[in-house]
Amino acid sequence: MNAAPTPLPNPLTALQLEQALQLIGQSGRTPPQGEPGSPRWMQELIDTLVDLSSRDALTGLANRRAFELALAREIDRVARSGEPALLLELDVDHFKRVNDTWGHGAGDQVLKAVAQALMESVRPMDLVARVGGEEFSIILPNCAASFGQAVAERVRRRVERMPVPVGPGQEITVTISIGGAFAPQWVRSTPTLWVERADQQLYRAKAQGRNLVQIEPTAVSVVSSEERQLLFETSQFLEDVE
Ligand code: GH3
Ligand code: MG
Ligand code: MG
Repeated sequence: MNAAPTPLPNPLTALQLEQALQLIGQSGRTPPQGEPGSPRWMQELIDTLVDLSSRDALTGLANRRAFELALAREIDRVARSGEPALLLELDVDHFKRVNDTWGHGAGDQVLKAVAQALMESVRPMDLVARVGGEEFSIILPNCAASFGQAVAERVRRRVERMPVPVGPGQEITVTISIGGAFAPQWVRSTPTLWVERADQQLYRAKAQGRNLVQIEPTAVSVVSSEERQLLFETSQFLEDVE
């Protein structure tokens, strides 16, 4: 008895799989193991693609997409648990000069070194992301308000003290400015508002001379009218609050 012929793969699917495998190879990751097309093989392929799509290619840090997802999740967690969370926005100072003086390749080395320094100065539960050219963000869940300044200072100092090789026998140092804001515990904020607040502090740190940390004071008065409105829309204690 003749076995039923194996159906030919859909040409589009075959092409997409081919591209996926090329992408994985190019990124230096291990291709899926086992029989191609088997459930285990497909699962490994998906896991690797998900990882690839959430990381920045240069530094290996979380990319902007992964950061935005994590930020939204963290806001939900703060609202549920009441634990304070800190968002830090970081920007390399005068980075254009590094590129102009030492070349784009050296600039890339600096970005990788900064990424490494950031990873090494926070806890494993904190998320470090590269959100733009020389811009990074860190989400610190469950970070007490009294601790924010010290954590950010530790990060800033670590970068300041780190020599980066930019050519044979040549090393430079760079500095970063940091702005920080806590997620308000008693109000359901939005990722955009939270980022805006931290960015305002980063702007202040730059304006005050760079290589500085500025953390937003955590007083109720800093909660924006938009956030107050969000509270009023959702609060069961609305009458008490007004
Ligand atoms: P400031 O202290 O105000 O932040 O000044 P700055 O020079 O760091 O800021 P600016 O925004 O003028 O310059 C950022 C530079 O970052 C310009 C851009 O060419 C460079 N850049 C962005 N992405 C990359 C990258 O992936 N690699 C390298 N080498 N440079 C990059
Ligand atoms: Mg910048
Ligand atoms: Mg900069």
